Amino acid sequence: MKLFAIFGDPVSHSRSPLMHNSVFKNLNYKACYTRVHLRDGSKLKETFFALGLSGANVTVPHKEAAYTACDEVRGFAKKVGVVNTLINENGRLIGYNTDADGFMFAIKEFGDIKNILVLGAGGTAKALSAKFIDSGIKVTVLNRSEDKLTYFKELGCECFGWEDFLLKKYDLVVNTTSAGLKDEELPAPLALIEAILENTSFVADAIYGKVTPFLKMAKEKNITCKDGADMLLGQGVLANELFVNYELKTSDIKLQMSKSFEI
Ligand code: NDP
Repeated sequence: MKLFAIFGDPVSHSRSPLMHNSVFKNLNYKACYTRVHLRDGSKLKETFFALGLSGANVTVPHKEAAYTACDEVRGFAKKVGVVNTLINENGRLIGYNTDADGFMFAIKEFGDIKNILVLGAGGTAKALSAKFIDSGIKVTVLNRSEDKLTYFKELGCECFGWEDFLLKKYDLVVNTTSAGLKDEELPAPLALIEAILENTSFVADAIYGKVTPFLKMAKEKNITCKDGADMLLGQGVLANELFVNYELKTSDIKLQMSKSFEI
């Protein structure tokens, strides 16, 4: 029996155990997935091996620590320095990023998006912004701490702190901050959020399982919006393929994971 887990702080909200266990159970794959509340990101690697894990997911705020912990990082994760999926490959820790492709899957229904405002500058913002730029989308980043913006400037994004923000029109605004995850905060001051919502066609929040104050405001303004559930599904399917080493069919994984959302 293989053991998988999700590391995070907080982690109790995570639906990943439900999603992955639904796949393992219903497709007869001998594995089990649990959650680990990890406060100190520097303990990630030793905890992973102490638990005898075959693989793991990593959530807020440890995705950049996960990148550092890896013996080898592959694919898109290498470019962005952010890891959300870990695989134990013969005692070596291998890192991947499935968040960005998961998010691209989630916004397909919005059609042709050319211009995105990203709220936040953490690990998720890095992965998404790099994927957007790769896809030819113009990206603006707005974050509370301006010292986190260097990466985004080098990527080619237009960057702002709360004080110097220059409002434009956007096709999509994405909340990648953790504001609203375990509190009732907005990702930026109220006046800025009001103005931003007046100037966007679509809104997405990476947070799932609750209507954040940001998403609530967008809904009240009748903007077409979505929470992070489809992103979660998209990244989860890709992570599960890595966990089972492509032994299961993608369509079967997706079906079982989608069903777990109905629970
Ligand atoms: P990080 O800890 O790396 O980054 C958090 C970001 O949020 C930072 O930019 C931080 O700003 C900002 N922030 C935190 N609190 C506030 C606040 N009160 N007001 C304004 N900004 C704030 O987190 P991640 O990038 O890993 O995750 C971010 C969110 O995305 C989490 O809520 C996570 O659950 C969600 N997520 C969802 C996924 C899904 O599948 N649906 C996948 C990945 C992430 P500062 O730099 O100033 O500290």
